[in-house]
This record gives sequence, structure tokens and C-alpha cells, in this order.
Amino acid sequence: MHNYDTLLAAITPQGGTTREVHDPATGALIGTAPVQDVAALDAVIDRAVAAQPGWAALGDEERRGYLHRAADAIEAAAEPLAELLSREQGKPLNGPNARFEVSACAIWLRTAADTPMPVEVLVDDGESYAEMHYRPIGVVGAITPWNWPMMIAIWQIAPSLRMGNAVVAKPAETTTLSGLALVAVMNEVLPAGVLNIVAGPGRTVGDALTKSPLVGKIMFTGSTGVGKRIIEASANNITRLTLELGGNDAGIVLPDVDPAAIAADLFWGAFINTGQTCAALKRLYVHDSVYEQVVEHLVAFAKDVPMGVGLDEQNVLGPLQNRGQYDIVHRLVESAKASGARVVLGGDPDHDAVGNFYPTTIVADIDPHNDLVVEEQFGPALPVIRYTDLDEVLGLANELEFGLGASVWSSDRDAARQIAARLQAGTVWINSHGGLHPMVPFGGAKQSGYGREFGVEGLKAVAEPQVVSG
Ligand code: NAD
Repeated sequence: MHNYDTLLAAITPQGGTTREVHDPATGALIGTAPVQDVAALDAVIDRAVAAQPGWAALGDEERRGYLHRAADAIEAAAEPLAELLSREQGKPLNGPNARFEVSACAIWLRTAADTPMPVEVLVDDGESYAEMHYRPIGVVGAITPWNWPMMIAIWQIAPSLRMGNAVVAKPAETTTLSGLALVAVMNEVLPAGVLNIVAGPGRTVGDALTKSPLVGKIMFTGSTGVGKRIIEASANNITRLTLELGGNDAGIVLPDVDPAAIAADLFWGAFINTGQTCAALKRLYVHDSVYEQVVEHLVAFAKDVPMGVGLDEQNVLGPLQNRGQYDIVHRLVESAKASGARVVLGGDPDHDAVGNFYPTTIVADIDPHNDLVVEEQFGPALPVIRYTDLDEVLGLANELEFGLGASVWSSDRDAARQIAARLQAGTVWINSHGGLHPMVPFGGAKQSGYGREFGVEGLKAVAEPQVVSG
């Protein structure tokens, strides 16, 4: 049974190149992470290739049992995992943050284990007979970002293992310890070589993983720019890809809402994980007739939500995970200010303070083409745009290259569903934003990526379909 110190000791490198890891909230040194190279990756891929046939041969029932035991192991180590995640990523223990993320890992594992995957009979008419099987691909590369470093890793790992693949995971550089800890805990119960991890730079180790002829599928979650590079890298081997890329989700508030009633859900849709969420609400369009009331209630709710060091139990918002992201948020808010937009909350960071804290920021009366609206801020700064005409706002919502999620806020569900049909997004939520369910497929339209995770579709995405006919 792990405590924080034994967990950290289990993942602390004993040699090789390392780098220091600092808490983004306090600057405190929390540990050292390995920095591995392409030679180390090659050895890890060989290990996965060697272990995969035995894992596949275990059969579905046995593998499902292993996934449940891995979920048990995560639950048994939940507190130390959450503490490490909080210290390295910055997200608080409480609220929809570190403890929530660790518990979601177990939930997604168990759902991947329990989702039925029967052989499909395609034709059986007396003359023809054909079945569809879903065979293992082989080795799956799992490349993750730094915002939800454990949960997103599980989204890639759990279905891949269930379908009989071995996995080589590559965590983000700034949240390496979280990835290593999760894998270490799971490997206490999984057979050796089935789940592997290599910690190194994206441009070398990540790139080599995507180009390896021994890797049949890449599950990638990260920026659209890197996603495009991975598409190019996949060409030589026709490597299968699931790409969960950037987002700039629009929310559209119709005139018939109750502004007080929706304020909390609007807030959490936008500010979950301090805005560092792919499918967070990143541009809020509010009808002129309710604009002032919606802004007023949103600000009234937002101003009291505590932000601070993650290990303090009362906090539910944290720092930006890294300084680069802080600089992006700062640049975009300054661009909004320079354009004459009205900052109704925040926007006044203390650059000399310890930690990457950017205050909860809401910007009203902003031009729909300001940088804060059209670029992905990935932080706690929400632009609220005024609109009067439905066709006009749909045009604005759909005009960007992204299409991950969107939301419609209305007391008329049918009207909202009709608007959903006109939005170019992989998910449209009604009267909420960003909620995910392990049985409901998730993924992007347009340049937010392709492929779907979760549910039956997610399992099929990490398998090779094979028709057996006759
Ligand atoms: P990123 O693209 O910079 O990095 C993601 C991962 O890719 C890291 O592990 C990195 O090391 C690796 N990488 C970098 N270059 C690579 C290369 N050439 N080949 C292979 N791997 C490489 O993204 P980030 O800054 O870590 O995350 C933020 C972005 O991720 C945002 O745009 C956000 O919207 C997006 N995101 C999307 C989803 C989703 O589900 N659609 C979820 C979370 C984050």
C-alpha cells in the first residue's frame, strides 16, 4: 500500500538524465523526472512487442479481470496519486480536480472492462454468412498533454489493453511524474511488458514513437499543430490515428434563460481545471436581451470561487500548469484590454507572485474577432460576446477551424436541439458544457481531430476490424 513518499520513490530515476520538477503553485522542488531518449524508446517498444502476443492470448475475460484489478490498485493508491497530481499539475485536491481525476481513472478502466464487445453477425441469410471481429492491432502509442495527465492517459490505455494491445505511453514533459505514477501503480497488477512508459521530449521521443514501424496505432491528445505533424509521421507506415486536438468551444445563451439559474454551470463549463481543459467553454455568446444579467450573475458566482495552492483543501481553482501557458493567457487578455473590451473580473495578475496564478477573468463587450475570442486561451479568462441575431451567432460559432464541443443554453429544449443541429462540433451540450461519460463517444469535428474515444466506438478504434466470411 503506497503513501506519498513510497509512490514518489517508486518513480524516482536511479540514474540517467533527469530534470527537476517544481510545483507550479509554490515553486517548491517536488522531485526529479527522467529524460529518456530514442534508444530508450526503442528498447521499450521491443518490450511491448514481445509482451503483446501473450496478453492477446489471455482472452477477453482474463484481460477484463486485469483491468478491474488495475482499477482496484488505483483506488487503493488514490490519495498519494491525487497529491502527486496536485503538486505537479497544480490542480487542487478538491472540486473537479485531482481527487476527481484519479477516481475517473478507475471509472474509465472499469467501463472499458465491462463494455460488451460481441462478435457481430453481418449477414446470415441462408446463402451468405459473415461476422465482424475486432482483433488486436499490436502496440499502441499513447501520447498525452499536461492538463489531465492521468485521466487522458487512461482514456488511451484502458481501451487499448482491453482489446489485446500492448501500450507505450509518452507523458507530457511538464507532467511526467503523474504519468509515471499512474503506470507504476497499474503495473503492480498487470503482466510485465504490457503497459510501458517512456518519458522524453515530444520532438524526439514522441516523434520517434509516431514513426516506429512496430507501433500500429497512435492515440494522441494535444495541440492541433502537433496533431498535423503526427498525421505526416503516420504516412509511411499507414499508422492508425485517433487525434483529440485543440478546441475553442462556443456557448450560445438564448434570450429565454434564467441568468441566476445557469451561472454556476456556465462558470464550471468555462473554468474547470482553471480553464485548462480541451472541451471547456472558451467563448460565450449571450443574447443582448439577457446580456447584462448573465454577466452580472456569472461574475457574482465567479468572484467567490477560491483559487490557490492545490494542497489547501478549500481551493478549487489552481495555477496555470506552466509559465508558457500563463504567458499565453496574459497576452490574450492584454489584447482584449487594448481593444477597449470591458474587464468585469480579474485581468490584473501579480507577475511577481510565487506560482503561475492568473486570476479568474471575465471580459465583456469584446469584439467577436479579438484574439481572446478566436485563439484558444486554455486558462481562466472567458470572453463574453453580445449578439442579437441567431444566424449571426451561428456564423461566429462555426467560423473557427476548431469543432470539439459547443453548448446551447435555453429553457426550450427543442429549440436548443434545433440549434445543435446547426453547430459544427463533435458534442453539443444543452444547458451544461463539458460533461463526459465513459459510454458516450467523445471527439472533435474539423481541426479538433478525428476518431472517437469511449464506449463501443472507442474500443473499436483500438482494434483491427476483420470480417470472417463463409
Ligand atoms: P502538445 O501538442 O504540445 O503536447 C502533447 C503531447 O505531444 C506531449 O506529450 C508532447 O511531448 C507530445 N509531442 C510534442 N511534439 C510531438 C511530436 N512531434 N510528435 C509526437 N509527440 C509530440 O499539447 P499540450 O500543450 O501538452 O496540451 C494542450 C493542447 O492539448 C491544447 O490545444 C488542448 O486543447 C489540447 N487538448 C485536447 C484534448 C482533446 O480531448 N481534444 C484534451 C486535452 C488537451
